[in-house]
Amino acid sequence: MSHELDNEAASFGAERDLDPQDWDQFSKEAHRGLDLMIDYLRRVRSRKVWQPAPDSVRERFRASLPHEGRPLASLIDEFADSMLPYANGNLHPLFMGWVHGAGTPVGMVAEMFAAGMNANCGGRDHIAIEVEKEIVLWLSEAFEFPREASGVFVTGTSMANLVAAVVARTGALGEPIRRSGLRQAQGQLVGYASQEAHGSIERAFEIVGIGSAYLRRIPVDAGRSMKIDALSAAIAKDRAEGLVPFLVVGSAGTVNTGAIDELDALADFCAKEDLWFHIDGAFGALCVLSPALKPLVKGIERADSIALDFHKWLHVPYDAGFFLCRHPQIHRETFMSTAAYLARAPRGLAAADIWPCDLGPDLSRGFRALKTWFTFQAYGTERLGAAIAQTCRIAKHLEALIAGSELFELRAKVRLNIVCFSVKGDETGEINRELVMDLHESGIAAPSITRLEGRPVIRAAIVNHRTRAADMETFVAAAEASARRIRARARERM
Ligand SMILES: *Cc1c(COP(=O)(O)O)cnc(C)c1O
Repeated sequence: MSHELDNEAASFGAERDLDPQDWDQFSKEAHRGLDLMIDYLRRVRSRKVWQPAPDSVRERFRASLPHEGRPLASLIDEFADSMLPYANGNLHPLFMGWVHGAGTPVGMVAEMFAAGMNANCGGRDHIAIEVEKEIVLWLSEAFEFPREASGVFVTGTSMANLVAAVVARTGALGEPIRRSGLRQAQGQLVGYASQEAHGSIERAFEIVGIGSAYLRRIPVDAGRSMKIDALSAAIAKDRAEGLVPFLVVGSAGTVNTGAIDELDALADFCAKEDLWFHIDGAFGALCVLSPALKPLVKGIERADSIALDFHKWLHVPYDAGFFLCRHPQIHRETFMSTAAYLARAPRGLAAADIWPCDLGPDLSRGFRALKTWFTFQAYGTERLGAAIAQTCRIAKHLEALIAGSELFELRAKVRLNIVCFSVKGDETGEINRELVMDLHESGIAAPSITRLEGRPVIRAAIVNHRTRAADMETFVAAAEASARRIRARARERM
């Protein structure tokens, strides 16, 4: 039986690879692409925050699978015409919708280097692994963790929270639980997080197989921090019923309002009760980089593990989440595999002891450490911390503008960089919702909607290093004009 592949033996000597045939031409095109992107970043302020892609553009992405290649030049043109203008908007200084990072030109260049190296950071003995280990050391220093702490890059904090739940499970039930599964466990595991905690923790409980019904959502106080007496009572009740409390998740910066749990008190509590203390510090953990903000997260240095994102307040290009763990042994025992192709050699490329694939669910993984390394090195922690603190000062400025506005009222205390407010007298939140959609479509600013006390409110999360205090005046003026228009439209309909 003759095979297509056998026949191709006839073409030995005429093999083709996927590299350019004309490297000089490729270089010219690639430089044009780089200039295009540098220009795009330089002029971000002159564009709308966001605009929807028209149907004619969306239609272009419904073509059939390409059989023949096209020149790079035409792809760059299509990218520039059909993709760049319809981006997410998070680079723009008036994007305040969600807790999104804004990226940096340095991060963009680092991404290119990482793609060029195309390292597989699952493991083995190459320099990318050393760079990732250096980031672990830097974080241990920043969070005052022991130098032996372990850590691993993951996509984002959602994944880091999932890793935390799995590692804490191993911590509670021991390594054999990996084989026996939770059904064989003595008793039902239960975890605790505040009502304001991120939804990814609930999902982690679902995915791990503990079940989200066994993540107790603990009420919060007026500052939206977890009530520790309520936590204590919930744990006592669960223990009395024969359940097995194992994990408390503290929030350092909630996504709704930027609230921070009392981390020191939670650390005391977890030590006394012998519970794993994980902190979801997706963005707020990085308060440690600012001397002004660091006291707010006091106690984070006592956590058993921390989940955080470099792609939010540190502006490392997406994606770059991280899981840091005080207990390297338990961390490793949770994920280490004995598969033959992962065997370690005493010498050569397969040498080295701990590989990133021993510390998380991924095997093949990109060089996320590089763009993070470039970001830390290019700016230094002082400037990065100052950029973080600046967003909090601008949030305070926005808070003052809202407090002084005739049309708006504040809806939550501003703890960090998130301002939640409402149109006065908007009982149902309908005007707030209209206003946010109007602003998005205007391209002037992009806040978002969240729910507080069951009611839709306007949320402005100031994350972007490009945002200036003066942008808040623009934002509030546009929001007030929009509120007046919506009121006038409503009156016309009556
Ligand atoms: C953003 C966020 C998450 C989820 O992180 P991803 O990087 O989007 O997966 C979890 N918790 C908090 C508090 C967040 O702000």
